[in-house]
Amino acid sequence: MINYSKYKIHEIKGRYITNDSLLRLSFSNDFNILGFSVGEAPVYYLKLGSGSLNILIWSQMHGNESTSTKSLIDLISFLKSNGKDYLNYVTFHIVPILNPDGALNYTRDNFNGIDLNRDFLNFSQPESRLLKDLYDSVKPDFCFNLHDQRSIYSVKGTNKSSIISLLSPTVDNSKSETSSRIKSMKVICSIYSKLNKVIEGHVSRFNDDYNPNCVGEAFQTQGTPTILFESGQFGEDYTRENTREFMCYSLISAVQSIVKLEYEKIVHKKYYLIPENDKRFFDVLIKNVLLSEKNKTIRSDLGFRFKENLCKKTKKITFDPKIIEHGNLKSMNGHKEIDFINNSKIFNIKSNNLAELFKKM
Ligand SMILES: [Zn+2]
Repeated sequence: MINYSKYKIHEIKGRYITNDSLLRLSFSNDFNILGFSVGEAPVYYLKLGSGSLNILIWSQMHGNESTSTKSLIDLISFLKSNGKDYLNYVTFHIVPILNPDGALNYTRDNFNGIDLNRDFLNFSQPESRLLKDLYDSVKPDFCFNLHDQRSIYSVKGTNKSSIISLLSPTVDNSKSETSSRIKSMKVICSIYSKLNKVIEGHVSRFNDDYNPNCVGEAFQTQGTPTILFESGQFGEDYTRENTREFMCYSLISAVQSIVKLEYEKIVHKKYYLIPENDKRFFDVLIKNVLLSEKNKTIRSDLGFRFKENLCKKTKKITFDPKIIEHGNLKSMNGHKEIDFINNSKIFNIKSNNLAELFKKM
């Protein structure tokens, strides 16, 4: 395994990553402007290497999905200091923040309220057109599509959270195995075999339902092997600095597999052995809370999800708990779990004495 701490870029951290974060980097002068967003923010682009194989990588097409962007910056750092072999063989075309307005406002959608990852049939937004034009001019051999997934995701059949999930996007409803899809599957198997040794049981396959509006489907359909990378939740680390390391490791593994042709020896059917994603996590699960409901007092479990909000003043993301389910939730998991079985205080689900629950945590 690589010595990650050597390459990690400490100037960039936390969940709020914007164009300003990129401009603070020591290599910010290497960025060019690809074009402009709806809100007239520059969309930065970095070309790295001089090889004949072209890899196109973009991140934060969903503005509030910043973890993989941090990993991508670390990948750039790795390539710059250690990647001579890679850079002679590959030319990397990197768009670290495709949706700078969404990043600034901490929203999934762009300034017009459009989900850019549902815009690859219409190309109605300038950001989608910028990526499509770059794709057309580069004619990449591989595409890496970088995202964050919600903390709800688990690895199917287990009680482990999905820290990293991967996908070879489909090209039709019958999920045909085209040569491009097979190539992506093989590279994913390469990543999985390395990554699963580090975070065993925490790596999964993202949902592969076909949606032609998505960028991954669009480029895969054009015949370019495309891989979706999703950074997920690991324990109570909501800065996702730990996940960042594992995502960086995934990206380096993918590049190594492609450059050293490791993927060619892999049987692509092994892809289907990677467990799928499931949705079995709350951010906080409080078990056996004594609740008064309709003149009855019962013990019940409470499942909370954090709503992420940008505090415009401090430029920090706050994580505000909201009850989304209650009842018998024993088959679910929480990134944090507390048992109230020995607590005899009665809470009311409609009143704000529930806030006391959080004070006790
Ligand atoms: Zn996304």
